[in-house]
Amino acid sequence: MIDAHCHLNFHSFESDYDQVIKNAQAAGVKVIINAGTQINSSKKAIDLAGKHENLFAVIAIHPHHADKLEPAWLKELENLAKHPKVIGIGECGLDYYNYQSNGIVDPSIQKKVFIKHMELSHKLKLPLQIHSRDENARKDILEILYTHKNLLQTVPGMFHCVAGSKELLKKALDLGFYIGFDGNITYKGVPQGEPLNLEELVKYTPLDRIVVETDSPYLSPIPYRGQRNEPKYAIIIAKFIAQLKNIPFEKIVEQTDKNVYTVFRKLKIKS
Ligand SMILES: [Zn+2]
Ligand SMILES: [Zn+2]
Repeated sequence: MIDAHCHLNFHSFESDYDQVIKNAQAAGVKVIINAGTQINSSKKAIDLAGKHENLFAVIAIHPHHADKLEPAWLKELENLAKHPKVIGIGECGLDYYNYQSNGIVDPSIQKKVFIKHMELSHKLKLPLQIHSRDENARKDILEILYTHKNLLQTVPGMFHCVAGSKELLKKALDLGFYIGFDGNITYKGVPQGEPLNLEELVKYTPLDRIVVETDSPYLSPIPYRGQRNEPKYAIIIAKFIAQLKNIPFEKIVEQTDKNVYTVFRKLKIKS
């Protein structure tokens, strides 16, 4: 199966990513997509993809870093995105959640930077992988997507680590986006600052629009919550979705993998 969004390009995997990749493959997670959040982590994601057959990269500036950009960032991102193993533009988007470690970046700057990513995705015909945290951020993202609909492709991309209301989820589905779910769907209760239990969103999203992702090193599924997450746990997430939807695990894997190939048309592996 495929982990459609994680960060083996981050520090916590610096010393053992080779082993982490081996563990994933042994568990049945054969393909891994690493997401960049800045120019440097994007380069690192490409670097890893260059070294490993079944690793791929999506690259972008995360909204947390939207206010710390060098003037040439966009040109640099565009040049990097031409690499054969860069299969999408992400994670980009809006985030209005007030983290202790990172205050909220001025939303007007976030929006400008997000629209630049949309233009790049349109220019290079690469799908978007969107980060959306906080219901108001999601509202603004959808407004931007609808206003700039001309920049969207037939399969425009995916929202990663989805939370929020069914109403906004429906709008994303209506635009043709696919929906990524992570280990936090196994947590009990309504997530902090969100309107709805994630289980409800999983049940609401049609299987032919779901992709599985881990967001490693974050969001480990139960029973590993609080520990470093790894792509191998994508299996646990798929099993949990199987239970919620009352559909066999094998069918979940088959369909969600197929969905990843539909979103990321550049993703090709040697069989
Ligand atoms: Zn994210
Ligand atoms: Zn992420």
